[in-house]
Amino acid sequence: MTSKERIARDLNNADALADFANLEPGQIEPYRQKHPNFFPETFWPENRTGFSIAALNAGVAGFDWQTYQTLLREAWAGMFPSDLTIRLLESSGMGQSLELGTGHVYPYQNAVMLLHDQSWRAKICEECHNRYVADHAKRKYCSTKCSELNIAKSHLKWWRDTGKKRRSAKARGR
Ligand SMILES: [Zn+2]
Repeated sequence: MTSKERIARDLNNADALADFANLEPGQIEPYRQKHPNFFPETFWPENRTGFSIAALNAGVAGFDWQTYQTLLREAWAGMFPSDLTIRLLESSGMGQSLELGTGHVYPYQNAVMLLHDQSWRAKICEECHNRYVADHAKRKYCSTKCSELNIAKSHLKWWRDTGKKRRSAKARGR
């Protein structure tokens, strides 16, 4: 894999992690179809039913998706500090601790490492408040749709504030 290919893969994975961070409870299935094998299979609800409460409480089964998402959102807002990054790299499914010993890296771990390393990429859109992966440090919006929405809003604000003064000044001048 060339370094260019590796960067493209890492950024793809980071985008998939942003999608996960923005996920609502009803959207698990379409997410899994779009990003198969991004997390270990045992990460997802129907594969966790075999665990005893004791195993779940002891953390042997790894994170469930909602706990993981809460941590991830916290990391996203705080630019992936080391303590949260370490927790996010931990196993996220039963059996994964064995794979960790062999150096197997899941795409979600690859994405977490990238966002810790290049934490300026982990941004929250100023318009829609979704988390996204920025291509440059000064980006403020997740998409052209959101930046256009913001421009339209500031035009409207100008029309209301400044335009109103001008219109009334004009009216007085008559
Ligand atoms: Zn947005």
